[in-house]
Amino acid sequence: VGMRKANDNEEAILVTVRVRPLSSQELAERDVAVWRCTDEKTLTFMDHVPERSPYPSAYAFDRVFGPVASSEQVYAEAARDLVQSSLSGLNATVFAYGQTSSGKTHTMRAVSRSAVQDIFEHIQRTPQREYLIRVSALEIYNEVVRDLLRPDSGPLRLLDDPERGTVVERLAEEVVRSSGHLYQILEDCEAQRQVGETMLNDNSSRSHQIIRLSVESCPSMEEGMVAGAGGSHVLMSVLNFVDLAGSERASQTLAEGARLKEGGHINRSLLTLGTVIRKLGESNKLRRGHIPYRDSKLTRILQHSLGGNARTAIICTMSPARAHVEQTRNTLSFATRAK
Ligand code: ADP
Ligand code: MG
Repeated sequence: VGMRKANDNEEAILVTVRVRPLSSQELAERDVAVWRCTDEKTLTFMDHVPERSPYPSAYAFDRVFGPVASSEQVYAEAARDLVQSSLSGLNATVFAYGQTSSGKTHTMRAVSRSAVQDIFEHIQRTPQREYLIRVSALEIYNEVVRDLLRPDSGPLRLLDDPERGTVVERLAEEVVRSSGHLYQILEDCEAQRQVGETMLNDNSSRSHQIIRLSVESCPSMEEGMVAGAGGSHVLMSVLNFVDLAGSERASQTLAEGARLKEGGHINRSLLTLGTVIRKLGESNKLRRGHIPYRDSKLTRILQHSLGGNARTAIICTMSPARAHVEQTRNTLSFATRAK
């Protein structure tokens, strides 16, 4: 097996869209759904489109999930392949992108849980290798990094390590013994994020959360096993689950002409991520230009799991409601640029 190189097909970013059901609030306001999944890959705008509208009436992605799609289905088609490649040594990142209350946290919670289940099932089925799984979790709020496993440890700095690249100084890492143990840790992180929510105004719409699993394996040394039977290499990878700040924090209308001001509406990490993703998308077609990973904390931390020998999936979440059409269009434009 060894360190695998992602082939051309694998290098493309997997872009999917998940439409949530109308919320009770939207229903109470007599809002209506104006988007429909007209086939497995097409999202169609069903409302009246004014003549000379600059917007397309339909968008195509790798996969679109309607309001009745289950989280298991979303996991199976939007993330499972990446999780499997992380078990064979490729770095991978799954993002949830969308405006506040579009379903990012709902989706990432389910996807990370299904991934944990898959990973531990794979470990059970693979006695010829020994696995070491570790977890860390952090939040980026206004370009300040906070440890979700050790919430009292204060702001964390990023350091440039000559061998490992950007590392988060003092970030806690826990060795995971079982899926149950990891579920518990994920729940504790969620609780920590909610503490942040009550202390900081609007925390979840402004902050990014990264759950990072580090996956290491080597051939097992049990008796009766031929050395090298399961591949002789040590495999190492990281798998990131990223619940992004609300995409309204990067909307073009706010970004244009306005200064990039921390604490303001605009989120540096989200804007930079948008640029990095767009450039990565372009670099398949044209020749690679400068990719500004270093311009934000989020992209520095994720640099080695984005582009290059890594796999990326973006699940864009959206409300079907007419009231949100403008923000939804922004999300779909981002998703289109990422392809
Ligand atoms: P975000 O993290 O993008 O702000 P949430 O994940 O918190 O949004 O979702 C907002 C609300 O909508 C929550 O109450 C959540 O349970 C609900 N929700 C989101 N997506 C779905 C879905 N696909 N099916 C059912 N309810 C959903
Ligand atoms: Mg959320």
